[in-house]
Amino acid sequence: PQYLANPQRYDAMGYRHCGRSGLKLPSVSLGLWHNFGGVDALETGRALLRTAFDHGITHFDLANNYGPPPGSAESTLGAVLRSDLAVYRDELVISTKAGYTMTQGPYGDWGSRKYLLSSLDQSLRRMGLDYVDIFYHHRPDPHTPLEESMAALAFAVTSGRALYVGLSNYPAPLMSQAAALLREMGTPCLIHQSRYNMLERTIEGELLPALQAQGMGCIAFSPLAQGVLTDRYLAGTIPPDSRAAGAVGFLRPEHLTAEKARLVGRLNRLALECDQTLAQFALRWVLRHPGMSSVLIGASRPSQVLDAVKALAAPAFTDAQLAEVDRLLMP
Ligand code: NDP
Repeated sequence: PQYLANPQRYDAMGYRHCGRSGLKLPSVSLGLWHNFGGVDALETGRALLRTAFDHGITHFDLANNYGPPPGSAESTLGAVLRSDLAVYRDELVISTKAGYTMTQGPYGDWGSRKYLLSSLDQSLRRMGLDYVDIFYHHRPDPHTPLEESMAALAFAVTSGRALYVGLSNYPAPLMSQAAALLREMGTPCLIHQSRYNMLERTIEGELLPALQAQGMGCIAFSPLAQGVLTDRYLAGTIPPDSRAAGAVGFLRPEHLTAEKARLVGRLNRLALECDQTLAQFALRWVLRHPGMSSVLIGASRPSQVLDAVKALAAPAFTDAQLAEVDRLLMP
């Protein structure tokens, strides 16, 4: 039967302005890094995307290389757009990126104009889209002039392939330089995408203040530390259907050290005292930061998306609760 989106989809989700731009992002966004590849069941991806959109998650984040195989997450999104979501295109913010290894040869990686623009054209074809809402440079390229990579991003916008541009994994000083170049080129940088969660707070030092100075938004990837900040591994075992047990990806069993398990156990007790799951507590914690535009979650099943949406209903943290988290994280 034809998919009809939930008429109440905008009731519970909050939307935040992304930096000083006019674009609002949902507090929770969904990333297609894992579970949307050619190796995964299309129906799982379809259920995740429909559940997300039905609850006000209007932003889906992709990259050229998401899969595996590379490109297949974009093909999955293209298939679900065709089957279900295409009529809602104007209610969606779809992003993609280029910057990591995509194809063999000298034009399939890093930051040349040649690579970035041909990759974006391939992404648009896979998704069946005329334009993406945000096109990112996925990581800095030390061997290409910053001017060249930024001019390619600006051209993506002036040529109609993208509405906004973003950067990811840039250190603060380079991010500021890139943002200045883009402003001069008439295409202000919308957003930076960074890893940020209770176990990884590096960006609080330099990057977040620098983004604020530039008027750019920040979207936090891996807010659950790929599942470590959830009940997934709390029992001290690795469930067979979890990311750490999977054949692909960067979360490996050896990352789940005894020390980390003790810390996560303590955070879990704190979450339970607040009547939240650890995942909800971890997402709320990221969103407490005034510089955060959205948390970018991954999910392997629709119930995880619903868990994240429910986190938004919890009351704001008290100063005492935040101090307790700091005490655990920085003893
Ligand atoms: P998360 O930290 O949110 O980890 C997601 C995983 O955590 C899920 O796949 C699931 O793992 C588990 N999980 C999620 N919700 C719950 C829950 N409620 N209860 C229990 N377990 C849960 O994010 P990701 O690491 O997946 O990254 C999110 C997105 O960020 C990516 O899809 C991508 O778009 C972006 N990203 C960008 C990068 C960049 O360089 N710019 C790098 C990495 C990510 P399980 O499979 O075990 O169920």
